[in-house]
Amino acid sequence: MGRINPRLAKLHRSFSVFELADLLGVHRNTVRQWIREGLPVLDGAKPILIIGSEFQAWWAKRTNARKRPCQPGQMYCFKCREPKAAALGMVEYTPANTVTGNLKALCETCGTLMHQNARQADIAARMPGLAVQITQAPSSIDARAHPSPNCDNPKGA
Ligand SMILES: [Zn+2]
Repeated sequence: MGRINPRLAKLHRSFSVFELADLLGVHRNTVRQWIREGLPVLDGAKPILIIGSEFQAWWAKRTNARKRPCQPGQMYCFKCREPKAAALGMVEYTPANTVTGNLKALCETCGTLMHQNARQADIAARMPGLAVQITQAPSSIDARAHPSPNCDNPKGA
């Protein structure tokens, strides 16, 4: 699925599942999944109709929810779709440069590798009480991660 441009759904128009899917370049089952996730539909309309403005509002809310900052000690798991703590309290930091780098941990629930960019100066605040290991790849967490090609790719989520 490519990047979705919610503005293609004109505010004052209504769309069937098929029309909205076509417009946004997604499969109609994706639109049906959104409806199950809470995308509002027009009351009583058969077949289902979705109002452009309601789609845009819902999409913005969903996007913001995904950007919701994790609590300290948590990272966002794209498989569980929510912030999760690190399995075994193990977190690694791979510096990209002298200022920022990449925090990595395995999800406590599903074992998916979680990533997060972080400033090195912020590690203690982001991961309080955890002994964050500073490494260069390849790391022991990479070796422990279960192969799950679809689960740690935010663009595919
Ligand atoms: Zn998970």
